[in-house]
Amino acid sequence: MYESFQKYLSKELDEIKNAGLYKDERVITSPQRASITVRGGKEVLNFCANNYLGLSDNKRLVEAAKKALDQRGYGMSSVRFICGTQDLHKELEKKIAEFFGTEDTILYAACFDANGGVFEPLLSEQDAIISDSLNHASIIDGVRLCKAQRYRYANADMTELEECLKKAQDKRFRLIVTDGVFSMDGNVAPVDRIYELAAKYNAMVMVDESHSAGVVGQTGRGVTELYNLRGKIEIITGTLGKAFGGAIGGFTTGRKEIIAMLRQRSRPYLFSNSIPPMVAAAGIEMFNMMAQTNELQERLHWNTKYFVEKMQQSGFDIKPTQSAICAVMLYDAPLSQKMAAKLLEEGIYVVGFYYPVVPKGEARIRVQLSAGHTQEQLDKAVAAFVKVGKELKVI
Ligand SMILES: *Cc1c(COP(=O)(O)O)cnc(C)c1O
Repeated sequence: MYESFQKYLSKELDEIKNAGLYKDERVITSPQRASITVRGGKEVLNFCANNYLGLSDNKRLVEAAKKALDQRGYGMSSVRFICGTQDLHKELEKKIAEFFGTEDTILYAACFDANGGVFEPLLSEQDAIISDSLNHASIIDGVRLCKAQRYRYANADMTELEECLKKAQDKRFRLIVTDGVFSMDGNVAPVDRIYELAAKYNAMVMVDESHSAGVVGQTGRGVTELYNLRGKIEIITGTLGKAFGGAIGGFTTGRKEIIAMLRQRSRPYLFSNSIPPMVAAAGIEMFNMMAQTNELQERLHWNTKYFVEKMQQSGFDIKPTQSAICAVMLYDAPLSQKMAAKLLEEGIYVVGFYYPVVPKGEARIRVQLSAGHTQEQLDKAVAAFVKVGKELKVI
C-alpha cells in the first residue's frame, strides 16, 4: 500500500512547492529574544515573534521555572482529574482569573486545545454559534466538533453579525465568538458593539485574547479592558505561548458554571496531559510581575507608536493597528518575499505574507513589535526598511 501512498504524497508536496507555498523553517541557535542567532551564525533582529512583552528569556521567569524544576520535577505524567493537578496549577488558574477579572479558569496544553474543547461540551443542535470569518483555525476546528448551527459574518462586520443574530433567534442559546486581535491586520475586534448586539439579541460572547492579552488596554488586560467590559464577557480563551512568556499552555476563563462544565466534559482537558510544573510556576511568577508593574506594556505601546510613526514618515503604507502587529502593505506577493529576503540580509528578520494567508492582492510584511526591542533596534529596522524599500522602489 505505502508505495502508492508515497507517490501520492510526493506529488502533493511537489504541488505545494510549485505553488510557492512550501513552508521552510529557519533554525535559531540562541534563546528567543529581540536579537537572535540563526543557524549559520548570523545574528539578526527578530520582528516576527509573538514575544510581545519580551518575556521569552526573562530572568525572573527562568529562575521560577528552575526552582520548580528542582522542587517539583519535570513532568506530571497524568491528566488533571486523575493525578495531574498540583497546587501550582490551581494557583495559576486563580492568577489568570484575577488578571482578566473573571470567576474561574481552566488550563489546557495550548489555546488550540482550549478552543478545540470549548464548544462541544456547552452547546448542541438546538443552539447557534456565530463566528467572525477571520477567526483563528482552532476556533474553526472547535466549532466543527460541535453540533450547534453555524453562522459566519465578514471580519468585524456588525451589520452582518446583526443579520446572523436575527436568523438565529429561534435557537435555544446563541454564542458570538471572535478573536480579540486579528493577527494579519492587527485590528481589534469591535467587542463593544458585539456586546451591545449580544444584549439586544440575547446572546453570549466569547473572545480569544491570544494576540491581545498582555498587549491591548492600558495595563494589557486585553480587549475587555480596552472596552471597559471586564467581567462581562462569558468566555475568554488565551495562550501562555505569546505575550505571557511564550512557553506553552492555554486557558479558558470566564463564568464559573461554564468552567465547571468544561472540567467535566471538555475532551482536550480530560484526555490530554497537564502542563509541566515549571511552566505553571513561571506562569504564576509572570502574573505576579503583571500585578506589580505595567512597565512592559508602556514600553510596548511606546515602541509600537514609535515604529509605526517612523515608517509612515518614511513613506510606507501601514495598516492602522490597535495592537503590536504592524502590517507594511506591499500588495504584490513576489515583492513581499523579495523584500523579506533582502531585509534578512540587512539583519532584520520579518516575514512576508500573501494569498491565501491574506486576501488576494494584499501581500504584506508583518512586523511584530516587542517590549524587548530597544529604540536603537527599532531605528536599525526602520533604516533597513528604508534602504531596501528604495532599492525595490516601494518608497
Ligand atoms: C496563537 C493562537 C492560538 C493558539 O495558541 P497556542 O497556545 O499556541 O495553541 C489560538 N487562537 C489565536 C487567536 C491565536 O492567535
